Amino acid sequence: MDSTEFRRRGIEMVEYICKYLETLEDRRVTPSVEPGYLRHLLPNEAPFEPEKWDDIMEDVESKIMPGVTHWQHPRFHAYFPAGNSFPSILGDMLSDGIGCIGFSWAASPACTELETIVLDWLGKAIGLPDHFLALKDGSKGGGVIQTSASECILVTMLAARAQALKRLKSQNPFVEEGHLLSKLIAYCSKEAHSCVEKAAMICFVKLRILEPDAKASLRGDILSRAMEEDEIQGLVPFFVSTTLGTTGSCAFDNLYEIGREIQKFPDVWLHVDAAYAGNSFICPELKPLLKGIEYADSFNTNPNKWLLTNFDCSTLWVRDRIRLTSALVVNPLYLKHGYSDSAIDYRHWGVPLSRRFRSLKLWFVLRSYGISGLQKYIRHHIDLAKRFEKHVLTDNRFEICNEVKLGLACFRLKGSDKINEKLLSSINESGKLHMVPASVNDKYIIRFCAVAQNASKHDIDLAWDIIVDFANEILEKDQA
Ligand code: PLP
Repeated sequence: MDSTEFRRRGIEMVEYICKYLETLEDRRVTPSVEPGYLRHLLPNEAPFEPEKWDDIMEDVESKIMPGVTHWQHPRFHAYFPAGNSFPSILGDMLSDGIGCIGFSWAASPACTELETIVLDWLGKAIGLPDHFLALKDGSKGGGVIQTSASECILVTMLAARAQALKRLKSQNPFVEEGHLLSKLIAYCSKEAHSCVEKAAMICFVKLRILEPDAKASLRGDILSRAMEEDEIQGLVPFFVSTTLGTTGSCAFDNLYEIGREIQKFPDVWLHVDAAYAGNSFICPELKPLLKGIEYADSFNTNPNKWLLTNFDCSTLWVRDRIRLTSALVVNPLYLKHGYSDSAIDYRHWGVPLSRRFRSLKLWFVLRSYGISGLQKYIRHHIDLAKRFEKHVLTDNRFEICNEVKLGLACFRLKGSDKINEKLLSSINESGKLHMVPASVNDKYIIRFCAVAQNASKHDIDLAWDIIVDFANEILEKDQA
């Protein structure tokens, strides 16, 4: 493909994307295919000779699309949103066109510097304390874009582990590191995302999973009691991962209490995972949800969830960048450059070496919408979730199972878990609507998240009508 054809195909592709997004409603939300469906439609080997572009695009519609789950569909209410917007798509397109790999400042200075600036912009908009901002005088902190929240939690745990091991080694110079490692213990709530468990597996450290209160919030006294007990057993608490906006029910750990309690353990790293909810703190009225952030060592949120930015764009801020990078620095000659001592090299802030120019799309989004446009979008989703909550509350066969603070409402039919499982599976099988369940306080609940960028009140009302129709049918059968 030469640039003349690229121009033509580019226009066609933009047209295809627009049409796809504008007519999404005509498609099932979820595909009705079985595992392996695509293997039967595509050849076993890559073509030896080049194929025609039109043939490839024809296969997109006839073979790929039937297996796609349409996350941008107005009736997709599962998980959390997958950020998507035209400015973000165009930013990513430009990033692909430039095609630089910004692992160090020298590898592409603009790639590094824009990331630092944009992370400061977003950090300020969220209301993070100044010590998390890279360009603030006297600050040792800064922000970085990672691929996912899981990676943010992994790298902060790795940093905390390195710091703890260094300290233990200096106190016990003749004890083997493997033995010291076996003493380290991290903490999170039962409601924390499973990626905390995965990070602990990778870091080879113990993880104590604590019971939250009835509102699915981890409390300070529960945590400090557990840490004290573990210290008595000879273990060394080194990392706590708290969650603001849990995956199951968008609950909030009591960060303020936890932060205060953790002052008794000055060597413990306090991380805040706000993968979804953190984006909403750009709204002044939601900033109280961030109370206690002054105690945190690191904070992450995913603009690729709820800030109109396409995957991947997971933002992480740390209070002390040297503490982060000291766990991750390796310095072969071929990666050194003349400004290694004075410039940021993001390769030291994460696991991969190669990095895309991801800050471009976030910069495009922040500039095209402005903070005011993004606040409007967040508030709109919250209004939609509250509208859904109202529907649930008007039908006394149902109950609401969370405090609807943001764009997620959790509900269930009053009755057994089994009947709720049946309700959800029937709805999902129909392809009319898509939601996922969660278990909160050992109860099976159904999550309804406002997801589509331009979802309207009408979409919410329609979704509720679908749920009621299925519930009527299931309850009738159940009583028969
Ligand atoms: N943390 C929370 C609170 C989440 O809700 C999620 C995913 O939904 C994650 C972490 C994992 O996110 P990622 O897919 O970016 O690793």
